[in-house]
Amino acid sequence: GVRHDVLIVGGGAGGLAVAGSLLRRQPDLDIAVVEPRTEHYYQPGWTLVGGGVFDRRQTVRPMADVMPEQVKWYPSAAAGFEPEQQQLVLEDGERIGYRILVVAPGLALDWDAIPGLRDTLGRNGVTSNYLFDLAPYTWELIQSTRGGRALFTQPPMPIKCAGAPQKAMYLACDHWARQQSLKYIDVEFCTAGAALFGVADYVPALMDYVQKYGIKLNLQHNLVGVDGGRRCATFKVTDTEGHSREVEKPFDMLHVCPPQKAPAFISASPLADAAGWLELDPETLQHKRFGDIFGLGDAGNTPNAKTAAAVRKQAPVVAENVLRALRGEAPRAVYDGYGSCPLTVERGKIVLAEFGYGGKLQPTFPTWLVEGRQPSRLAWLLKEKLLPWVYWNAMLKGREWLAGPQLLAHSPAPHEASAACNFEE
Ligand code: FAD
Repeated sequence: GVRHDVLIVGGGAGGLAVAGSLLRRQPDLDIAVVEPRTEHYYQPGWTLVGGGVFDRRQTVRPMADVMPEQVKWYPSAAAGFEPEQQQLVLEDGERIGYRILVVAPGLALDWDAIPGLRDTLGRNGVTSNYLFDLAPYTWELIQSTRGGRALFTQPPMPIKCAGAPQKAMYLACDHWARQQSLKYIDVEFCTAGAALFGVADYVPALMDYVQKYGIKLNLQHNLVGVDGGRRCATFKVTDTEGHSREVEKPFDMLHVCPPQKAPAFISASPLADAAGWLELDPETLQHKRFGDIFGLGDAGNTPNAKTAAAVRKQAPVVAENVLRALRGEAPRAVYDGYGSCPLTVERGKIVLAEFGYGGKLQPTFPTWLVEGRQPSRLAWLLKEKLLPWVYWNAMLKGREWLAGPQLLAHSPAPHEASAACNFEE
């Protein structure tokens, strides 16, 4: 059968950034990408589509246009792994061999975990910026809502771009404030979590906006049901003693961030950890049990913020370590857990959260230019003008924009030394 030097699962942010990064380092490398979609999405733009700033066409390109020419593209979905045989199984049963496998299929949005939700998406005032097709409906609803109750929900972690549920809300409130209708709308943020944002340093600036907009903050409120016809949402509310009860809330507008999980073909595979995610070394991004497999992006179990910003830093680390593994060498490049979440607190201003493992702040810019813990105009320009350009023209093309990988100074730990062969820990 066919055998590629490097086989990549997923042609999203992570898969194509690694392909680009590998080709910059070694232009003649034999690389294949397995990706079923004909479109490639710039998902970070969907918040701005929902806020009426971008047209959704700015967030999509034909896959054929972003897939590097030198790459062999299999327009098919991966269905399983045979790591002992160094083979990937496609949905039609075809097997593709590899020397090194890179796994980056993103995560799965679990709409069906909430009874009634799927049926009413895009109708009855129910929307979500998490879908390309629905983000424009968010903006329609924001414009047509002049009174009543607007609910914005956030499910249990992990989710991609943990700030996105509240970004949608702040941009809505900003519009309503400008239209002088905010005082007629009860805005509520219902989050399954116990805090407004996971990294405490950013909470004060966000709380200022919660107060300014008059938002009711409902912590430990987990959406468990939607009745679109009655325009009613059901929440499981947990109190400080851990007791829970169900509460119904009628709404005029409901913005849902769906629960999220690892793709089924990952969680059912030998590559998964106990929670179903791809089991990676948090520094080298090598699989913990299979030395010829690497991974990155939302499907990974590394405890960073699941963002394209994280992928931008992970891709060169994976590329560097994949090339070493092809030469039989242990991984040497390390990822520090960087992720970023530009919180659009109003039209024209952003609280730029940038942090690594353990919630350690990792600002890109000196504080006199951008103080991440304060709303910033420059950070908005970055998000609206610069970052989309960086994504399409630098990240996907393997140009490292402030993302060159750190190299390990110490010699690799013993288990890292068997880079090019499978091993069990
Ligand atoms: P994706 O980019 O989702 O790509 C996964 C690819 O794998 C897809 O092309 C998919 O078709 C493919 N695939 C799936 N299953 C299979 C299979 N079985 N076989 C082969 N291929 C498969 N990030 C930021 O940095 N900043 C932001 O402001 C930001 N805002 C966001 C707002 C919203 C509303 C959303 C939804 C996301 C946001 N993100 C943001 C997160 C960012 O988009 C993701 O973290 C990033 O795209 C992850 O890259 P990935 O390659 O892991 O997954």
